Amino acid sequence: MINISSIKISSQAKQAVQKTLDSGCLVQGERVEELENLFSQHCQTRYAIATNTGTAALHTALFAAGVTKTDEVITSPFTFVATANAILMSSAKPVFADIDPQTFNLDPKSVKQKITDKTKAILTVDLYGLPSDYRTLQEIAKKNQLVLMADSCQAVGAKYYKQPVGSLVDISVFSLYATKNIMSAEGGMITTNDKRYAQRSQSFRNHGQRLRTKYNYEDIGLNYRMTDVLASIGIEQFKKVGQLTKIRNRNARKLSAGLKEIDEVITPPIPKNKTHAFHQYTIRVKKGKQVRDSLQKFLAKKQIESKVYYPKPLHMFNHLSTAKVDTLPIAEEIASQVLSLPVHPNLSVKDIQSIVQAIKQWSNHEK
Ligand SMILES: *Cc1c(COP(=O)(O)O)cnc(C)c1O
Repeated sequence: MINISSIKISSQAKQAVQKTLDSGCLVQGERVEELENLFSQHCQTRYAIATNTGTAALHTALFAAGVTKTDEVITSPFTFVATANAILMSSAKPVFADIDPQTFNLDPKSVKQKITDKTKAILTVDLYGLPSDYRTLQEIAKKNQLVLMADSCQAVGAKYYKQPVGSLVDISVFSLYATKNIMSAEGGMITTNDKRYAQRSQSFRNHGQRLRTKYNYEDIGLNYRMTDVLASIGIEQFKKVGQLTKIRNRNARKLSAGLKEIDEVITPPIPKNKTHAFHQYTIRVKKGKQVRDSLQKFLAKKQIESKVYYPKPLHMFNHLSTAKVDTLPIAEEIASQVLSLPVHPNLSVKDIQSIVQAIKQWSNHEK
């Protein structure tokens, strides 16, 4: 079976975990700080703040940015539910804008139309690892005095005009979940250049206690701390971020070269001035859900795993229906067409050939 993700723990990571376990320092400490330093160096930001999950990082970042009751946060309906749940958990209202049919990221034109006098922030999502349209969003945020935030959970290693994702907005969020490009089993990270956002994040993840202080609660908070045990895995992973991103891009190029003459599918765009992190390699099957699902079944028979991220846009779920929505036709159409194929760094040349071959066979069947 060629799986859509593959988890490998290096012997260095195993040794690092062992060392941390032996040290007796298991919870947030020096290893977490070391991982934070690696992130802030890579992202070229003044601060990086670790949390125990990407979801916790989103909740923390929204708190840090001052998002609260009666605020509206404009975000994408075409993302993992954590993005919108974090907004709800901040007592704010998610407002969904439509997406761009080429990049699958927020369409700035639609974002503009969703701004009201209650809008506090824009939370853009770098879906599948492709950087958002940051310049245009920055202009909109500035003009309307909004906080610009990014859910870059899938985009560690991605770049925009040569600048690392994580440094392009007021406050960014990453996930270190087991199947993400860089992982620590579970984990999250916030990056920012804003001292106040950093301090509020450090405090919120630890019950309102400032860094290195105890029992003086300056505000509300929770326990969202990462452990040194899991940070040890993250550190070893993060050392390879450049190399792993390159391999994912190489795999993506090979898939796109192999699939370019198959007219049922559209391969993912790599816009100029963006470096994709290729957390997912996602094709569009133009003829829609039935045909897309038939391709998925065909691939499964050939022992190739593929996944639909995400089958239903978030504005169509009940618990998010408090969100102000009309219809979001592009998100709804794209959700019925997308299919993610394996692109992870542990694929062999033969695996990639098998994937291309299988899709060619399916395409001939279709005709
Ligand atoms: C993975 C992911 C999250 C949540 O991260 P967890 O670490 O699983 O909590 C949020 N948003 C997006 C887009 C993700 O892919």
